[in-house]
Amino acid sequence: MEPKIFESHAHYDSEQFDEDRHELLMSMPEHGIGTIINSGANWDSVTEVVKMAAKYPFMYAAVGMHPDEVGDLNDERFEYMRAQCQKEKVVAVGEIGLDYYWDNEAHDVQKKWFIKQLELARELDLPVIIHSREAAADTMEIMKEYGKGLNGVIHCFSSSKELALEYVKMGFYIGVGGVVTFKNAKKLKEVVEAVPLERILLETDCPYLAPTPYRGKRNSSIYIQYIAEEIANIKGVTYEEVVAQTEQNGKDLFRI
Ligand SMILES: [Zn+2]
Repeated sequence: MEPKIFESHAHYDSEQFDEDRHELLMSMPEHGIGTIINSGANWDSVTEVVKMAAKYPFMYAAVGMHPDEVGDLNDERFEYMRAQCQKEKVVAVGEIGLDYYWDNEAHDVQKKWFIKQLELARELDLPVIIHSREAAADTMEIMKEYGKGLNGVIHCFSSSKELALEYVKMGFYIGVGGVVTFKNAKKLKEVVEAVPLERILLETDCPYLAPTPYRGKRNSSIYIQYIAEEIANIKGVTYEEVVAQTEQNGKDLFRI
């Protein structure tokens, strides 16, 4: 079968897609997109991503609460989330982690729910999608203590290549998004150079973080080719190799 793009991180429940969501998603196959992981983030998405995965054959869901949103969680809602994680086509717990950039929630609250969601993934034998922004040290500390033996991806990786390689050693994948196409993204280009292609996943994080030449515009999975092209350039391999290997990586990690 011809390799197709595996988009490992998108937010199609975002209101930024309200006007053209269905048409846009129906056009994905003709743009060479074979699989999309629609990632949970806020409380509404815990329900919505499961519904959307049931509607679109190429779409799968991750259920979880983003660190900026964990203030909306409580024990009862956590039980609902556990049930949602066991629905059909839910392939990961995510996105979960720490965000000290927006700092929407107190750090101890972020840590508490991050750890609880890691434990949920372990209990249900699901991989995790990790969000870490300006919180590299605390994220690693928690992953070392509570993430041992789990599989997953560090999405939109934004730290050093040393840290990327440490995660790779722990068995994790590195999610590379549109930032890699930015001229000033020296650090991320070094990460891509250092991390084996067998450990890289393509992602857009759409509607956010559109790659060059669409920087600042609404992002969607059809722009993911610019990310794959940049990775091919950096690693000195063909575009087709990047698409084929990252598709295999995505299928392996999410067991699709
Ligand atoms: Zn995201």
